[in-house]
Amino acid sequence: MATLPGPLESRLLRLLYCDGPLSRWELHEQVGVRPSTVSATVSALIDRGMLKQNESKPAYGRGRPPVPVEINDSGWGVLGLAIEPGRVSVGYLTPYGRVLGRTLSRKVSRSEAVVTDAKDLLERAMTDQVSAVGVSLPGLMDPVQHKLVLSAAAPGQLMVDLDPIYQAANGCPVILENDMHAIAAQRLLTGSSSAEEDSLLVSVRDGAIGAAMLVDGKPNRGCVTGGNELGHMRFDVKTDRCHCRREGCLACIFSTRFMRSRDEKDAAADSTLTDRLATFDGHDPTVAMILDYLAMALGNAINLIRPSRVILIGEMLQPRLAQSYLAQRVRREMLPGLVGRVHLDISSSPAPSPVEAAGWLALAATYYEEWRQNIYLPPEAQPAKRT
Ligand SMILES: [Zn+2]
Repeated sequence: MATLPGPLESRLLRLLYCDGPLSRWELHEQVGVRPSTVSATVSALIDRGMLKQNESKPAYGRGRPPVPVEINDSGWGVLGLAIEPGRVSVGYLTPYGRVLGRTLSRKVSRSEAVVTDAKDLLERAMTDQVSAVGVSLPGLMDPVQHKLVLSAAAPGQLMVDLDPIYQAANGCPVILENDMHAIAAQRLLTGSSSAEEDSLLVSVRDGAIGAAMLVDGKPNRGCVTGGNELGHMRFDVKTDRCHCRREGCLACIFSTRFMRSRDEKDAAADSTLTDRLATFDGHDPTVAMILDYLAMALGNAINLIRPSRVILIGEMLQPRLAQSYLAQRVRREMLPGLVGRVHLDISSSPAPSPVEAAGWLALAATYYEEWRQNIYLPPEAQPAKRT
């Protein structure tokens, strides 16, 4: 039966994740808890297979066992289950977030079957080494009732029951979060995001805009868990109907479908928005218009929440000219007093794979107690109170 580490266990694991190997004495000095308590907790973690002795680096502390300990990279891991529009995937991650082995993936042909497909894959991937399961989904969810409230992964459906996924985890802790929060977990644990800054994280893909407001590196949560719904910010533009059942959503505007609907005559019929962004020189009116709407949405979001940093991720915004055009337009939409105070990072780095990001949710919950808000623990898997 897998359980999440208790508070002291989590702190020790986090120290070892960041700075290991460390001796028991060094751990005691860092957490300020009695050496005997630290030693007993370390022993318990070794027994559970989460830590191991590092025989190659002896350290000497007063009266403490001279062998430092480290994360047992081969002893345990987590599963990441990513549910996306049209696809579910699951993979195993080591304690350091390395994807190990084959990722299982399945195309979801009927959106009504998305939960059943996810459950099947999870059942196949579960092993004794799995200590927690991270599940990432787009849209809004209710982790208390185990319902998917509104999601592009289940278009046209409301309040989809997620219980089969929890059951497939077979008693293992499940951390269910928005897909943007999963990316935030990955960035926090890999040091790409600063824990001191308040930032707005935006992922940009064809027909899908995700956002999360990060306070001290952790996502800000509303009463219903989700990212910040920047993709459903609406404009007075004729688009396809969004899965939220309305028109004019930013996610629908920032799409190949919308681009083609605007200029099917002069544009190459098979070019995608990604292609057109790659050759964008400021003179393509349709692409400029699409970037203008993205800039308007970002500018409004920045004016409303005043983050210290805005981080845009996604390969579509890699081309330099598209980046500089967008940055210039966003600044134009920002309140004059904010320009120069808000850092705008248009990162050309790709977002982590959805499976990887989902796995980082489980790792974040292992190393940080604050990441356990949306966790489901079967009664017998509650962490021990005192360790
Ligand atoms: Zn919408």
